[in-house]
Amino acid sequence: MEVYGFVPLGYEGELVRVEVDLRPGIPGMDIVGLPTGAVREARERIRIAWRRSGLSFPQQRILINLSPADLPKSGSGFDLPMALALLAASSTLPSTVPALLAVGELALDGQLRGVPGILSALARAREKGLLVAALPTVCRAEAEAVEGFRIVSAPHFSLLVEELKQQQGSTTQGVTALPGYSPQPGVWPGWTPRPSVFRALLTAAAGGHSCLLYGPPGGGKTVAGRYLQKLLPPLEPQEAWEVARLKSLRGEVNSVYPQAPFRAPHHAANVAGLVGGGKANEPGEAALAHRGVLFLDEALQFSPSFLQTLREPLEEGQVSLARAGRQLVYPARFQLLLTANACPCGQAGRREGVCLCGHVAIRKYWDRLGGALMDRVDIRLFLEAGEEYPPEGKVNLSHERQRLENALERRRARPGQEKNAWRDWGELQKSVTLNSRQQTFWREAVRREAWSGRGAVALLRLAVTLADLDNRPSLKDDDLEEALSLRKAQGEEYWQT
Ligand SMILES: [Zn+2]
Repeated sequence: MEVYGFVPLGYEGELVRVEVDLRPGIPGMDIVGLPTGAVREARERIRIAWRRSGLSFPQQRILINLSPADLPKSGSGFDLPMALALLAASSTLPSTVPALLAVGELALDGQLRGVPGILSALARAREKGLLVAALPTVCRAEAEAVEGFRIVSAPHFSLLVEELKQQQGSTTQGVTALPGYSPQPGVWPGWTPRPSVFRALLTAAAGGHSCLLYGPPGGGKTVAGRYLQKLLPPLEPQEAWEVARLKSLRGEVNSVYPQAPFRAPHHAANVAGLVGGGKANEPGEAALAHRGVLFLDEALQFSPSFLQTLREPLEEGQVSLARAGRQLVYPARFQLLLTANACPCGQAGRREGVCLCGHVAIRKYWDRLGGALMDRVDIRLFLEAGEEYPPEGKVNLSHERQRLENALERRRARPGQEKNAWRDWGELQKSVTLNSRQQTFWREAVRREAWSGRGAVALLRLAVTLADLDNRPSLKDDDLEEALSLRKAQGEEYWQT
């Protein structure tokens, strides 16, 4: 009987075969194959839990080898596979029990505790054709999100052993389907922003555009930002699976659900919290916002290093970090949503306010975001304070919902349709054609605004999203004009470098 454990490495991870050798000699247990702290300590937990489960511990010299030997093994999830491999080696488990993946921590009384990363472990096992898993009961609901597995679970080690004695037969079934899900109806909130704000947020949701909401306090930036969450379309099954796997690595998931993530870290968050990693190999906020939104309320209160670290995920769609000589990678393809006051004192842009900050101070203030980061923000929306919101009903919600659905259909049908995936003009060109008047308008706008190549492409991406919202395959002149108004912001000179 073969037993495998799992070690997470970023989003991916590796199966670890647990081999046991029993020899006559002074009773004792050695673990080799680069076990780190918690794995080395497993010796005591296994011995005590085993006895409390009424099993007689082998009075022999025990050698446990974790293979591949060059991969450091961490975490308490190795308790269970090591205990089971030892049972198999001492013939307590019949040899008919199939090869299996085991993940779980042993308490001293033999209770089984859950560990993070179950979905990644099962995904890796399935790639290797291993389709039986022994898990603590608390992990069962999460594991059932992965189709095609035979899950053997129990709350206590002794009960799991009894369950396993009943198991036999083949382990491979060649299942490749990803877990399905039942779409939930979208929720439209009671509060409705003014139409121009709604329009910008709808465009951001439809095209996956990053967005800055700025202006004086009292303009509703935070409320408007949070409203975007309600507009986000449900995830595709593959996207929902990726999101669930990332949450699983933090021990935060019990099902695969198609809701797009909306992460709003506090401005005291540091770079480690953004990129993840650390001792527990956990994904950070950037990865947890994957396929959804990373919302930085009062973005300029975040540390400059935090803000500049955002460039890699915005550009590459992932975060990578080096740990113990290995490269850990987490997917992190998110929409960035920022809010900010227009100036340090907050009065700039307020109708009755007087801003005394001065141009240099304002420039310095915006420099914290930096031109390179701002360049990746497609929509910049100024919200004035003190304006009355029109009563609800100015925005026809059922009409707008239909437009959003149309836009998503159209986007899926276009080449390079993935959210935030249009890299360059070459790819975009496959999706849209400009007539000569539109070509001129586009070139002239980019020249006048002194935009980078990224800005030029962003203008077209926005125009395509606006055409999608109108359920049209081709662009109208109006699309480019409106795209220009969304991208070009009041006070833009502040953050240009
Ligand atoms: Zn000011």
